[in-house]
Amino acid sequence: MSLALLNPQQRAAIQSLDGPLLVLAGAGSGKTRVITQKIAYMIREANFDARNIAAITFTNKAAREMLERVGKLMDSRELKGITVSTFHSLGMHFLRQEAPHLGYKTQFSILDSYDAAKIIADILKSTHKDEVRKVQSRISLWKNDLLGPDAALLAAADEFDRVAATTYVAYQDTLTAYQALDFDDLIRLPVELLRSNAEVLQKWQHKLRYLLIDEYQDTNTCQYQLVKLLTGERGMFTAVGDDDQSIYAWRGANMENLRLLQHDFPRLKVIKLEQNYRSTARILRAANSVISNNPKLFEKQLWSELGLGEQIHAVMCKDEEHEAEVVVQRLLAHKFEHRTEFKDYAILYRGNYQSRVFEQALRNQRIPYQMAGGQSFYDKPEIKDVLSYLRLLANPDDDPAFIRALTTPKRGVGAGTLEKLGNWARQRNCSLFAAAHEEGFQLQVNAAQLAPLADFCRFINALTYRALREPPGELAMEMLKSIGFEAWLYDSEDSPKAAESKWKNVFELVAWLQRKGEQDGKNLLELTQTIALITMLEGRDEGEVDAVHMSTLHASKGLEYPHVFLVGCEEGILPHSESVDNGMVEEERRLMYVGITRAQRSLTLTYCVKRRRGGEWLFVEPSRFIAEISGDDLRHFGKKGAEPIVSKNEGKSRLAGLMASLDNKVQKNSDS
Ligand code: ATP
Ligand code: MG
Repeated sequence: MSLALLNPQQRAAIQSLDGPLLVLAGAGSGKTRVITQKIAYMIREANFDARNIAAITFTNKAAREMLERVGKLMDSRELKGITVSTFHSLGMHFLRQEAPHLGYKTQFSILDSYDAAKIIADILKSTHKDEVRKVQSRISLWKNDLLGPDAALLAAADEFDRVAATTYVAYQDTLTAYQALDFDDLIRLPVELLRSNAEVLQKWQHKLRYLLIDEYQDTNTCQYQLVKLLTGERGMFTAVGDDDQSIYAWRGANMENLRLLQHDFPRLKVIKLEQNYRSTARILRAANSVISNNPKLFEKQLWSELGLGEQIHAVMCKDEEHEAEVVVQRLLAHKFEHRTEFKDYAILYRGNYQSRVFEQALRNQRIPYQMAGGQSFYDKPEIKDVLSYLRLLANPDDDPAFIRALTTPKRGVGAGTLEKLGNWARQRNCSLFAAAHEEGFQLQVNAAQLAPLADFCRFINALTYRALREPPGELAMEMLKSIGFEAWLYDSEDSPKAAESKWKNVFELVAWLQRKGEQDGKNLLELTQTIALITMLEGRDEGEVDAVHMSTLHASKGLEYPHVFLVGCEEGILPHSESVDNGMVEEERRLMYVGITRAQRSLTLTYCVKRRRGGEWLFVEPSRFIAEISGDDLRHFGKKGAEPIVSKNEGKSRLAGLMASLDNKVQKNSDS
C-alpha cells in the first residue's frame, strides 16, 4: 500500500506500533484518516491479523464509514474478523459472550433511554418530566464514573443526590429482574468484569491486541477504564483526538482523560498534526479565533493550503420562519450558481427542536433532506410495538416488552387479570411472562380470562423456538400477519394515510431484518440487540442519496460538508442559556468550533432578532461567538448599515434561487 498520500507526521503515526500513541490535533487534520490507513498498514505491512484489531469510533455512522473507507483500501478477506464499532457495541459484543459471569443471560434486553426513563418515573412516582430526566442523568453520571448503587448512596451529599441514589438502587434491581441493561451498563459491566475476573481479562487482552480510538477527547471515565484494561501493560493503542472538540461533558466525558493518558502510560508518544486538509484558510481562521477565547490545554496550530476562500456570511433574520426561508433561498441560489448537489449542503443546529421550521421550508421547496440525530426511526411507536415482540422473544423476562406486546394489538386480557399477574410476579419475584405460566396464578383467574393470555404465551414460546433457526425477515413478517398488525394499524389510526405510512415503516424494518439476516447470518434474537444500539445517537443511515444534511451539532462531529449553514447563532441557543447559567460557556464554544470546522468551502451563520418562546415573542441577541470572529473574515447581511439580505448581487442570486426552486419543482413533478 501507499503511504504517499500522507504527510510525514501522519506517516509517523501510522508506522508507530511499538507502544501507546496519542495523536493530538485540530479539526480536519486527518486524524480519522490516520486510523483508517493505519488499519490497512497493520494488516498489509505489519502482519497483524484483522481479528486482533479493534477500532472504536463515536457513532454507528462513523463506524460504518470507517469500515467502508478501510474496505476501499483492501479486500474483505483481509479484513475478516476485524472489530470496528462504538464503545457501546463493543461492550454489547463482549457481554453477549460474558454476561453469565455477571448473572445475566446472554439474551439480555437493552433498554433505550425512553424505557429507562419510564422505569425511573415509576420508582419516583413522578410524572414530572424534568425531575425524571435529572435523576436519570445523575444515575448515568454515576454509572459512567463506575459507582454502583451502594457506592452512590454512600457518596450522596445532598437531598437531591440521596433521592437519586435511592432511585438508583431500585432502578438497578428492576433492570436485573427484567434481565435488561441500559446503555451505560454496556460499558460499565464489561469494566467490572474485566477488573474482577483475570481469566476473562486475559482472554480479551489476547483477542484484542491493538486498539485504535477516534474522538478520544469524548471518552468518559468508564470508557477510558475499558481501554486501559483491554490494552493492559503493553499499552498497544493509538488514540486520536482534539481537546477543542470535547462536547460531551454532560454525558460524563472527561477531558482529563487526555492528561491521564500521559500519566498512566509514561511511554506515551505524542504526535501532533498541523495541516488542515478540509477547510479554506478563512474558515480555519474563524474557528481558531473563536476557540482562542478558551483556555488552552495543549498548544496546537493549524494551517491550510486550500486558499483564503470566501468570507463567512453572517445573516440577520427577522424570526425563525424567516430564518428558514432565508437559508433555503440562499441554498437554492448557491446551488444554481455553483452547479452543486443537494448533498453538498448541511444545516446544523444546536437543538433538535430547531429542525422543524427548516424541514417545513425544505419541504415547501421540495428539497430532499436527511436528518441525523433527530427522532430516530426506531423511536416511532409502530416500530417500538414490533420491537417489543422481538425483545420478548429474545428475553421473556423483559416486562416492559411483555406488557406492550400483550396489549398491542389488544387481545382481550383484562386489566383485572393483568393486575393479578403483576401481584403474583411480585410475590414470586419473577417476570410477568414466567408468572403467567405458574399454576398458582392460573388458579386465581377463570378460564375465559386465562385463555387469551395462555394463547399469547404459547404464541411467543413457539416463535422463540423458531427465531433461533429461521430467517429473521420472513419470520417477523409471519408473526405480524398472525397478530393482524396491519389491520390493527388501519383500525386504530385516524386516517388510512397515517396507517399506510406506519405500515410502510414496519415493512422497512422487516426488509432490514431480512437483509441483515442474509448479509451477516444473524438470527432474529441477535438482530434485536443490534437494533437497540442503533437508537443511541443517530437515526437511520439513509445511504448516499442526494439530499441536504440536517444535523445537530453534536451529531455532526467528525463529518465534513462543502457548504454549511450554522443556524440559530444567538445568545440563549448557542451558547445555550442553561450552559451559560452553569458556567459551561467553554463547552458551548467548543461546540461552535466543531460547527465551523465542518465546513469545507463556505460557511453561513444565521441569527434571528426575535424568537417565539412558550407562545411569547422574545427579542434575542446575536451569539457572542460571531463577535469572536475577526471582522475582516465576516460579511454581514440584513443588519443596520450592512448589506441588505437581498443586496445587488444577492438580488441576482435570489432571482437565481427562485428559478432554481422552480426548476426543482418542475423536475420533481416530472419524476413522480
Ligand atoms: P475531525 O477533527 O473533524 O474529526 P480529522 O482530523 O479526523 O477531523 P479527517 O476527517 O481524517 O480529519 O480528514 C479531513 C479531510 O482531509 C478528509 O477529507 C481527508 O480525506 C483529508 N485528508 C487527510 N489527510 C490528508 C492528506 N495527507 N492529504 C490529503 N487529504 C487529506
Ligand atoms: Mg475525525
